[in-house]
Amino acid sequence: MSLQNLEFSHRLIDQLPADPISENSCRSVENAAYSWVTPTATSNPSLVNLNETFASELGLSAEDCASQLFVNVMTGNEVLEQTSPYALCYGGHQFGQWAGQLGDGRAINLVEINTEKLGYQTLQLKGAGKTPYSRRGDGLAVLRSSIREYLCSEAMFNLGISTTRVLSLCLTGDQVIRDKMYDGNASLEPCAVVCRVSSSFLRFGSIQLPASRGDEALMTQLVQYSINNDYPELKPENGNFDIETYLNWFKAVCDKTSTMIVQWMRVGFVHGVMNTDNMSLIGETIDYGPYGWIDDFDLGWTPNTTDEGQKRYRFGGQFQVSQWNLFQLANAIFPLIGEAEPLQSIMSDYAIHYENKWQTMMSEKLGFKDYQGSSDQDLFKALEQLLETVETDMTLFYRLLATYQPNSDALAHFTDCYYLAGQLTAKYEQQLDTWLQRYQARLSFDGLAASIRQTNMNKVNPKYVLRNYLAQQAIDLAEDGDFSEIETLKVLLENPYDEQPEYENYAQQRPDWARNKVGCSMLSCSS
Ligand code: AMP
Ligand code: MG
Repeated sequence: MSLQNLEFSHRLIDQLPADPISENSCRSVENAAYSWVTPTATSNPSLVNLNETFASELGLSAEDCASQLFVNVMTGNEVLEQTSPYALCYGGHQFGQWAGQLGDGRAINLVEINTEKLGYQTLQLKGAGKTPYSRRGDGLAVLRSSIREYLCSEAMFNLGISTTRVLSLCLTGDQVIRDKMYDGNASLEPCAVVCRVSSSFLRFGSIQLPASRGDEALMTQLVQYSINNDYPELKPENGNFDIETYLNWFKAVCDKTSTMIVQWMRVGFVHGVMNTDNMSLIGETIDYGPYGWIDDFDLGWTPNTTDEGQKRYRFGGQFQVSQWNLFQLANAIFPLIGEAEPLQSIMSDYAIHYENKWQTMMSEKLGFKDYQGSSDQDLFKALEQLLETVETDMTLFYRLLATYQPNSDALAHFTDCYYLAGQLTAKYEQQLDTWLQRYQARLSFDGLAASIRQTNMNKVNPKYVLRNYLAQQAIDLAEDGDFSEIETLKVLLENPYDEQPEYENYAQQRPDWARNKVGCSMLSCSS
């Protein structure tokens, strides 16, 4: 199969209204779900990394991807015949404030393909030039943020977490000025384009924007589109969309969202910019910006410098924010339902469902057979307190917990996960011992063989995550022209739960030099 021979499909552009103006200038786009736009040509496109496994699942062979045509298409320098690239129109709440129209300001959807293995998938270029939604932006993306998106998407996928995927990472040959830390120190950086892939790039904000404009017809069309294509199992047989169909759809969006957030909490992922324009209607992790991974367990940590004061998007606040975001979506679809009560009831269930999923997830992390009620809940909460008492590496802690032997020296066993030896007081040791005794008693209640419990725990507690400093090291090297670390990280993160002795040094705690380094502990939205 070659690029041109992929089976193209056009569900979105056939079913939703296009912006009749084809001129590529920044403007308000009304009564339309998207605008036609051609990617901007670049000076010297080249492939940095290819996601071979995924490419083959999409139906592309190694030879296809090695061609100049592939690089040209994946950087926007060539548009395949019979395809009509477009940028989506959507709005969103940013940091709690309604921001009006946002849209794909630098993402351009190339084409939808119908694949044998993965069904419908849309290929989208991020950083392919200006669109009518670019506002004050230049439509471009720099190499560092593109590497972060490229690596993290696949790391999440391999952890079993719902996410947009990536096919390729390319350099464009061009450079752009960026003020990386918003501190007046601007510099030239290489531009890159990531080809992102998803079955649907619709966001909460896709529904919110027409609703905010009182364009009920377009809002309804978008919801019906999502039902027909993202949730076909909810499609009414007689073709008549009624209130119940819309409520079932909203429930399904809630369900996918709560699952996604629980999974983030399981692995210590902090999205960093959970604005409603960055919330996918199919519950995929989308828009990898100033995200971060928990090194030392801290529910109050946010990786995003813009969020430093408010900490709206902190690790421990992700459920509350998802709930807030779903409330905004509920408001947007209110005209379809006509009364508040059923929506409120789904939102109340959302909190309950989230809690249930969180309890199940925590039970699995701790290796329990199942969740046993409030005494387990107490144990989880006590564990969170314990992990926050001294700086404790979350990922290492859970792997070490799996091999802890009852009544052995706990501090010695967990030594690798502590960041500051000075914090390990007698009082802390007492707290640790007390928790471990309760934990042991709980394990005895289950009576599972230790080896089975360990195997179970290691299936949900990853050994390898994309620690912030690891991504930064790959970026530093890549900016000097050495792309090898991108490949290494990609490969080792394919099997995050397995012991990989050759990569043992990638499973260690964050080194001290990275504690306060830009890119390792804090990131701006500059990208
Ligand atoms: P984000 O929070 O990164 O998802 O971006 C918020 C909005 O800004 C979206 O509409 C993006 O398309 C847009 N945006 C971000 N960076 C740029 C850029 N360099 N050029 C144009 N639009 C951008
Ligand atoms: Mg976004």
